[in-house]
Amino acid sequence: MARGAADLAVHDAVFCDELKAALARTERIGVSLRQPDGTIFRTQAMGQPGPYFINFDGKKLKPKMAIEVKRRKCEVLNRVQVTNLYLHDGELAGFTGFDIRSGDFYRIRAKAVVIATGNTNRMFNAQIGNPFNLWYCPANTGDLHRAAFDAGVALANMEYVRMTIVPKGFSAPGFNAFFGMGAQLVNSLLEPFMTKYHEMGNKAPRNYMVWGALQELKEGRGPIYMDCRHLKPKELEHLFFTLGIDKDTLPEFLLAKGYAKEGCLIEMTVSEPMQARPSELCGSGIRIDRTCASNVPGIFAAGDASDQMGCLHMAMAGGYAAGRHAAAYAQKIVHLRPLEPAAMAAEEARVFRPLERKHGVTYREFENIVRVICTDHFGPVKTELSLTGALAKLDRLDAARDELRADNMHELMRAHEAMNIHAVSKISARAALARRESRFHPYHYRADYPHTDDANYCGLMVIQQQPGGGVTTRLERLEYAA
Ligand SMILES: Cc1cc2nc3c(=O)[nH]c(=O)nc-3n(C[C@H](O)[C@H](O)[C@H](O)COP(=O)(O)OP(=O)(O)OC[C@H]3O[C@@H](n4cnc5c(N)ncnc54)[C@H](O)[C@@H]3O)c2cc1C
Repeated sequence: MARGAADLAVHDAVFCDELKAALARTERIGVSLRQPDGTIFRTQAMGQPGPYFINFDGKKLKPKMAIEVKRRKCEVLNRVQVTNLYLHDGELAGFTGFDIRSGDFYRIRAKAVVIATGNTNRMFNAQIGNPFNLWYCPANTGDLHRAAFDAGVALANMEYVRMTIVPKGFSAPGFNAFFGMGAQLVNSLLEPFMTKYHEMGNKAPRNYMVWGALQELKEGRGPIYMDCRHLKPKELEHLFFTLGIDKDTLPEFLLAKGYAKEGCLIEMTVSEPMQARPSELCGSGIRIDRTCASNVPGIFAAGDASDQMGCLHMAMAGGYAAGRHAAAYAQKIVHLRPLEPAAMAAEEARVFRPLERKHGVTYREFENIVRVICTDHFGPVKTELSLTGALAKLDRLDAARDELRADNMHELMRAHEAMNIHAVSKISARAALARRESRFHPYHYRADYPHTDDANYCGLMVIQQQPGGGVTTRLERLEYAA
């Protein structure tokens, strides 16, 4: 299911070996995987060979984790946007950031860091035009992918742009809840169509579902609908409850739209793309090894920000592993490495410069142009020409970065997010250019190379900035049992 993107040796170490302890920890902090009656509620969807998914109420997961962090007396810097990473003699020295309310600037020396800042959203036009109404978190803007890349950290799986199927008019997760409960996609002729595109029909991996929906829409059989009419009242009740866990207001939206719980056809569409993993079974971002370490000593990564972890199960299991490995590494380092004063002063000036400009470009204008370029050039379809065209246009925007203005701290944060979205767009387009095949279509669909070419491309496209400033791509082959 994640052939060519999942490194199984890393998975064994950061997920399989860690899962049991992660489940026990989750229960210990007060989040149970069980239903109120003590049973485990399992469903099958997204290409799983059996009912592997567990439905549980994870609404309080993050607040409960925060309580545990406090209980363990960890120091937390809330509302600090990390802006850059710094090395000394090729090894991590620390990082910088600023408080997005007070404007305090932080220079932090560190023996090790774990990057866990998710993937990149707001890169593509959203279905209703509001760039913040997305199926994923709009605050994850690839900040640390960009910063790590600039520091020479190798990234992988960056060519993939991921989409899902969402209710028309409201981008929200819920895909797994619908298909897990047995809902099916139909076109405007009320024909279930997914078996045309994958033998598993509505239980196919997510990318095939999106591909099928796109083909039906393209061939004029839209709108498409989520057909829930055959579900029993108890199943529907569970479905709507689960949708509310994915996004509080989703059941309310569906009811307001007239999709009454008792059997319905819900109009759906394909979501905006985001730059992220091509499968539920891998990640996209910092290339990690079995100890969650990147190629730069002291920089580790976990969760969606790493190339091998994605989704909650891996973030929960691998995140802990990354912390443990980073701590073990830090213990072996005797002295904190120095942060160069000149570099710190330059970064502080760079970070706050948009506040000094009275005239210039707003983050909204800048980000909108990035979105238009990405949407037009490398959403569900890419070609050599579309990608080189995107890169030329994105390069021309470089000059506008020096004209970004911010009128307050909130806009300053957004300006930095916008610059990071711009930088990640370029990384993604470059990696996509290097993969001259299609894989997990439409997440990487090259209309000029429409077939999957395992002989040449079964592996990770690793992209890296070299010390002289040049960017290289190389394919790291992955082997799988037949
Ligand atoms: C609504 C929703 C429903 C989902 N449902 C499921 C599900 O049912 N099952 C499943 O397996 N997965 C699900 N997922 C995916 C799952 O939530 C993610 O895979 C998981 O949260 C990844 O965890 P993470 O810690 O890697 O990243 P995140 O949880 O995304 O956390 C990233 C953090 O980094 C912070 N950050 C970003 N940039 C900076 C910066 N510059 N400086 C400082 N901090 C920064 C962000 O504020 C955020 O707190 C869902 C996702 C969403 C959005």
